[in-house]
Amino acid sequence: MGNDQKPTVVITGTTSGVGLYAAKSLIDRGWHVILANRSVGKAETAANELGFPQESYTIMQLDLASLTSVRQFVANFRALGRSLDGLICNAAIYMPLLKEPLFSPENYELTMATNHLGHFLLCNLMLEDMKKSTYNDRRMVILGTVTHNPDELGGKIPPRPDVGNFDGFAAGFKAPITMAKGDKFEPVRAYKESKVCNVLTMRELHRRYHTSTGITFVSLYPGCVADTPLFRNHYPLFQKLFPLFQKNITGGYVSQELAGDRVAMVLADPEYKQSGAYWSWGNRQRKDGQSFVQRVSPQARDDENARRMWDLTMNLVGLGAVAAAR
Ligand code: NAP
Repeated sequence: MGNDQKPTVVITGTTSGVGLYAAKSLIDRGWHVILANRSVGKAETAANELGFPQESYTIMQLDLASLTSVRQFVANFRALGRSLDGLICNAAIYMPLLKEPLFSPENYELTMATNHLGHFLLCNLMLEDMKKSTYNDRRMVILGTVTHNPDELGGKIPPRPDVGNFDGFAAGFKAPITMAKGDKFEPVRAYKESKVCNVLTMRELHRRYHTSTGITFVSLYPGCVADTPLFRNHYPLFQKLFPLFQKNITGGYVSQELAGDRVAMVLADPEYKQSGAYWSWGNRQRKDGQSFVQRVSPQARDDENARRMWDLTMNLVGLGAVAAAR
């Protein structure tokens, strides 16, 4: 809460798509939203275009690819003096056509660095802020996707994610290592594996901290939002045909507004209070519009995997020494 008595939620990546409409939905529900973005100007333009009331949001700079930026963001948030009542890890990049890997300022492969390492550090640092909040229903939400899960129709398309035994993480994950497993760079797998790590992070946060803190840790697949800029790095023809395919053939398409509402529901509505859950509305969008708790992929539900990912990622983001001292 701030002086305005509104609960406060941090949302990463609100310049477009799911995060932007989740912010809108939460503002409509009476939340104050902290819009955490790498481009403050772009975030302001998007907020203006959707007509967010000035007093309902605060824009703050956060580049998730940079661990230094994540730490600075948390320090800046603390200086605001608001309590942290909700956190939505939404931002992501997807660069399927890359021939060569790109690297973050800390020299980690960029997709894994942005989608997983940045959010992992953010969740761990902001857990301390959320513990201090007196709000009666605190939640952390991490966006998943169907493509993390080969058990589902939408997850069967190759290449499938394969984090193996996280040997790439164990070897330090710095260039020239680019994949969690330490094998050859494959950009689509890098995205899917970052999403496996997102789900493992949510499950491990739940296992470690739900009982002691009362915080709800939760994830979701909001549906196939086939026309967000997430696909901006794909072939133009794909960008044209994919929404049509999802609307007319698979029936998996959902609008950005509906996907944003779903994220807001999982953050704020009483029905979604179950910690450790992964919510879905189905691959083909159930006719009754009902959500359900879905089983996550074999790699993402493996508890040993979760522990190994956690310990190795703690080292990669510079929290290993903190963990050892606990
Ligand atoms: P989007 O429209 O491309 O939005 C991604 C957001 O992430 C943008 O605001 C982008 O900001 C931000 N971002 C990228 N790199 C960043 C960085 N280094 N630091 C901070 N912010 C950064 O994508 P979307 O479709 O809404 O996806 C949002 C989430 O939903 C993702 O987690 C995705 O995996 C998940 N999801 C999407 C779909 C789908 O069909 N679209 C399906 C399932 C799950 P910039 O403007 O600066 O790039």
